[in-house]
Amino acid sequence: MNLIGLTRADLTTLLAEMGEKPYRAKQLWHWIYFRGARTFEEMSTLSRDLRRRLAEIHTLERPRVAREQTSTDGTRKWLLAFSDNREAEAVHIPEDDRGAVCVSSQVGCTLTCRFCHTGTQMLVRNLEPGEIVGQFLVARDSYGEWPTPTDETRRLSNVVLMGMGEPLFNVDNVARAVSILTDGEGLALSRRRITLSTAGVVPMIERCGHEMGVNLAVSLHAATDAVRSEIMPINRKYPLDQLMAALRAYPGVSNARRITLEYVMLKGINDSPADARALVHLVRGLPCKFNLIPFNPWPGAPYDGSSMRTIERFADILADAGLTAPVRMPRGRDILAACGQLRSDSQRERLQGYRARLAAMSPEARAAEEAAHARARTRASDEARAVLGAAPGA
Ligand code: SAH
Repeated sequence: MNLIGLTRADLTTLLAEMGEKPYRAKQLWHWIYFRGARTFEEMSTLSRDLRRRLAEIHTLERPRVAREQTSTDGTRKWLLAFSDNREAEAVHIPEDDRGAVCVSSQVGCTLTCRFCHTGTQMLVRNLEPGEIVGQFLVARDSYGEWPTPTDETRRLSNVVLMGMGEPLFNVDNVARAVSILTDGEGLALSRRRITLSTAGVVPMIERCGHEMGVNLAVSLHAATDAVRSEIMPINRKYPLDQLMAALRAYPGVSNARRITLEYVMLKGINDSPADARALVHLVRGLPCKFNLIPFNPWPGAPYDGSSMRTIERFADILADAGLTAPVRMPRGRDILAACGQLRSDSQRERLQGYRARLAAMSPEARAAEEAAHARARTRASDEARAVLGAAPGA
């Protein structure tokens, strides 16, 4: 079993079952999440015998780095492969005194937002807690930031759940990952340094605040149901009045702790002065800040990005109404391309290899492989549907 991803309670139980005292679990946790140990061998405070027994049946496996790229502006991106060779991306975005690691919550995504490249990808499954935490560990490894710096000068100081996938379609695993990331004797990230971005899975928003206590970001992207439903199909299930009501009721929301509203600027779709004024009206009284995002184009995308002048004019209208509305400057453009693209390129090559392997299999083996493939996809879709309240397989 991979120990990365077990909660503190799970790890304590596991060691108790091995006949060890609770303080051993504490030591092991310290090695894994404070020191960043990658082998049991190096855990010198544990007895040789315990290290050997652990190594016999357990691993400390991180996702494998299939590709790593660093931008001229310091942004670093990893394409990560999990034990089943499915892939997702993580990105580190450095700033002067801190840095956020953007992690994925699913392989692919079931949402199909029309401007998002991830929505075009076929393979979808939920990531396990260890696969989510593992992305952060890989970033730490990559910067050699072990042991966990205890002052506030960490380069990897923040986590944003804004990578591939919809975190609120995978709440249990994401919540477990958050409990590991925030454990004070390990990675010790404050909940205020973790932001979860959702497309607006309304029934899960309260739970997100209650159970995880993280900052909330919402992909708003439109001020009217007509536009939002066109670009984000989830809006048909949870229209704006429901979404806004859930945001106003978000546990812990206050002027000191505002909700981030992401707004991707699409030329001629949602970027007019009338749209900006409608937004001002929509968010009245909600403690929030905007994040205006220049559209990141990808081959075949059905939209163009708004011009910088249009974006500035839009931002000015929000600012004049007293709203905070910075424009998110594109980072790492030389390596990033659009969200999800790194994985797509690699997936194309991989799919060719996969097809060749399938072709070489016996008919039974091929049928079994294809069935396993279909099951993983159906499982992720069914979980999404369960949250959405639709019948599985519908
Ligand atoms: N499913 C979650 C998190 C993943 S997307 C959510 O919807 O919030 C992270 C952010 O990137 C979202 O705001 C998403 O709308 C935005 N995004 C997706 N594709 C983009 C693109 N091509 N250009 C700019 N922003 C994009």
